[in-house]
Amino acid sequence: MLNLVLFGPPGAGKGTQAHFLAQSFNLVHLSTGDLLRNEIAANTDLGKLADALISKGELVPDSVVISMIEERLKKPRSTVGFLFDGFPRTVLQAQALDKLLMKHHSKVSVMLCLMVDKKELIDRIYKRGLTSGRADDIDLATIEHRIDVYNDKTAPLISYYESQQKYYPIQGMGTIEEIAENLKHTIQSIQKKHTHHL
Ligand code: AMP
Repeated sequence: MLNLVLFGPPGAGKGTQAHFLAQSFNLVHLSTGDLLRNEIAANTDLGKLADALISKGELVPDSVVISMIEERLKKPRSTVGFLFDGFPRTVLQAQALDKLLMKHHSKVSVMLCLMVDKKELIDRIYKRGLTSGRADDIDLATIEHRIDVYNDKTAPLISYYESQQKYYPIQGMGTIEEIAENLKHTIQSIQKKHTHHL
């Protein structure tokens, strides 16, 4: 199976690129951000809890996102793999994902990290906020806080995957098409390398 973790700070373009990648490689796209926003739109209890945290730029508890992913992985389906977008965001979530995939006799294949300057991140998020209607995209203090939370809780995952030789930094500045090409090439060269090993 090809299981990709699409990683990077908020505003790095994970959502946009995830759509291309899922299509190109026929993967099931799992975005915890999208799943949480669905809960908010449906006004469920989980949605209410998530909304309060997301609008402040805080992470939702690990247990919440882990069970959401667990449920999706349980669904029987034939797929060549999964594309995880915005998950895992903490070391605990990464460990849980490893365990869940192991249960399904699978594992994370690669972690692709989109590298984008902080100034560009803030610019992109702010611009997105003008049309997305996302409360967490409009307020500058919340945007800065999300980047701090990323550096504090999420960035440690880089060494988590690096130590497993699964970490691939990807140039995340440029046009959407250029970044999509960077991602595609990296995945294809990893796939080639793996086939040679077989
Ligand atoms: P995203 O669409 O991935 O930027 O996620 C939007 C917000 O949802 C984040 O700022 C978090 O508040 C929350 N969220 C999404 N995924 C996770 C996750 N894996 N762990 C904790 N919180 C998450």
